[in-house]
Amino acid sequence: MKLAILSRAPQAYSTQRLRAAAVQRGHNVKVLNTLRFAIDLSGDEPDLQYRGRLLSDYDAVLPRIGNSITYFGTAVVRQFEQMDVYTPNTANGITNSRDKLRATQILSRHNIGMPATAFVHSRADVRLAIERVGGAPVVIKLLEGTQGIGVILAPEVKIAEAIIETLHSTKQNVLIQSFISESRGRDIRALVVGDRVVAAMRRVAVGDEFRSNVHRGGTVEPVELTPAYEQAAVRAAQIMGLRVAGVDMLEGNDGPLVMEVNSSPGLQGIETATGLDVAGAIIDFIANQVAFPEIDVRQR
Ligand code: ADP
Repeated sequence: MKLAILSRAPQAYSTQRLRAAAVQRGHNVKVLNTLRFAIDLSGDEPDLQYRGRLLSDYDAVLPRIGNSITYFGTAVVRQFEQMDVYTPNTANGITNSRDKLRATQILSRHNIGMPATAFVHSRADVRLAIERVGGAPVVIKLLEGTQGIGVILAPEVKIAEAIIETLHSTKQNVLIQSFISESRGRDIRALVVGDRVVAAMRRVAVGDEFRSNVHRGGTVEPVELTPAYEQAAVRAAQIMGLRVAGVDMLEGNDGPLVMEVNSSPGLQGIETATGLDVAGAIIDFIANQVAFPEIDVRQR
């Protein structure tokens, strides 16, 4: 197949691995800088220009859209969709997963375990919202935070109120979420490709840090998932409309609690922790979809 990897970081580990996996399997692959596309809506058919020239035909596109370019990046992916180029992650799927509130709203009606979460605007409603999710200590999250930045553990209701008020005053939207203390600074990252988990790891926070992000110093170890965790991860990815996703789950007393679904999961941590060829699994899945397209209910 002819595959385009959309990435602004051709040298990054994940991009390199995906490219190498595609080459190794005899595919024709190009890494294209997402920001060098021009969406062309002037003609009869939807088109794309790349670096000022009409883009040649591709069978599939693998979007790796960074947080800072979500709007333009998803517009490019949507244009590929208009041109009937296969993408495992649709523009809608990427947009849905990027906003923690939107993702939680979408998942909440599908019987997926999640930490109790509330979202309010008015100062008058903050205290009740904190109580509804179980009281202090409580987790406060910026809607579009990543790498653990903007995730705060407030030990008391008064402190939580002060933090939320401060963030609201600077026009930041925040989620109020119950603190899952039994997960003790650990979480699970499951790499979902199609309808299965191809690799999983546990991330463990350092010292008294409750955030297990690697960027916050967390360490990783491979983990064998039980069916409940596998199922939660696969269902969460599917509901979000993502065929390639990194699903983050807390280990709650009653089973998995999905926190987040990432549409451009990094491969370095999980491949290093597990020794598995995740890049190869992603490429094989895309090639299979190109050869034997699934009927997509979303496009009916
Ligand atoms: P980010 O998208 O910035 O990584 P997350 O929502 O994944 O933000 O939170 C970062 C980390 O904080 C998680 O990996 C987890 O270890 C911890 N964490 C997040 N939410 C909770 C919670 N409700 N209870 C306990 N720990 C949490």
